Amino acid sequence: MRVDRNANVQDVLGFLRSNGPASQASIARSTGLSRATVNHIVQSLRDQGAVQYEWKNKREAFVCLASTQGSVITLTVSDALIKASLFEFNGQERIDVVSTDLPEHRDAAPSPAMALDMANRLASLARQRGAQAVGMAVAIVGPIDRASGTIAQWAWQRLPSWKQVDIHKYFTRHLRIPVAVDNDANFAALAEWSWGSGRGCGDFLNITCSEGIGGGFIINGGIYHGGTGLAGEIGHMVIEDAGDLCFCGSRGCLTSLATERAILKALPDLGSPKTTLHDVIESARLGDAACQRVLFETGLHLGRALATVVRVIGPSAISIGGTLGRAGDIVLGGLRASAEVINLSAIGSGTRFCIAEILDDAIELGALASVLSQIDTGMNSLAPWMTRPQPLATTTAAAATG
Ligand SMILES: [Zn+2]
Repeated sequence: MRVDRNANVQDVLGFLRSNGPASQASIARSTGLSRATVNHIVQSLRDQGAVQYEWKNKREAFVCLASTQGSVITLTVSDALIKASLFEFNGQERIDVVSTDLPEHRDAAPSPAMALDMANRLASLARQRGAQAVGMAVAIVGPIDRASGTIAQWAWQRLPSWKQVDIHKYFTRHLRIPVAVDNDANFAALAEWSWGSGRGCGDFLNITCSEGIGGGFIINGGIYHGGTGLAGEIGHMVIEDAGDLCFCGSRGCLTSLATERAILKALPDLGSPKTTLHDVIESARLGDAACQRVLFETGLHLGRALATVVRVIGPSAISIGGTLGRAGDIVLGGLRASAEVINLSAIGSGTRFCIAEILDDAIELGALASVLSQIDTGMNSLAPWMTRPQPLATTTAAAATG
């Protein structure tokens, strides 16, 4: 399904994607288009199957995005593994497969050929189910150079077999369906903006804090990449001049203060060592004062960095996602208590700080949102089946016995 790429049409579709079902009057008010233009656009989008009516009562119909047909494949590529997901809209099922669970890929480093093999498997499964793949997205856990379409040079060491590969070209040539390619943090931000705490925000920043820190900006309804493709890489903002040396060569980067490793390192050895950020958060929730304190201080560091972002860009909302988001009010309390965030009121900043609503699978869900937007469709909310993945093994076993 392709619709007219006229700017007004894109405005109407963009409004429905971020705000959900709406009357034609409210679409006209919010987009600044005339009622007659909105009416004309809605009629033509209905004819093309991109939108449909949802009746509120006998007289009033809301316009909403039509449900998607077929299926969408997403790939998440990190230096440790590849995760592939099939979102099958006809049968309303999500199927996940991870490279380390496949005997032939278990011990190999993630390569483009491995990713293609996993995408082909899911595409073939989709065909067996009569739900042809209509698009695919590739999320790279690392920076992408916008000019070459390859992984940025400083990340080559982590994904060596990808360094010369124009990712978009590679998958489009082999799969012949629309392909979206982006950095993991950008996709996570798109998920949070589409279906989480960023819904309806004109300008939005989502921070993903887990093993690393990445940020994704959504500006004017789309991911903001900047000229280089590296916009939102806030992990290397310098927070403490005399802080620890970071692998990027600077001292006191946010990365050396607010990632899983930094948080674990900051905890004193009290006889029950914590090995993951999940452990620290769990202990803090159970009342461990040292764990609470270190998460609060992580919030302070984030506040210092994000206050600068607010001064430069001024997003309407900033959400904290990734594993650290699970610390909820503890980390948010630290962030709001930082002097730099408190001082924002002096410049009249109304930026809202919050915890992301989509903490698990934000990358895959954002990759899905990106494909839906690329094929001119979308969804107003996440359906429960999209967040309940089934492993490929059980799915194929069921197909074989059924
Ligand atoms: Zn750094």
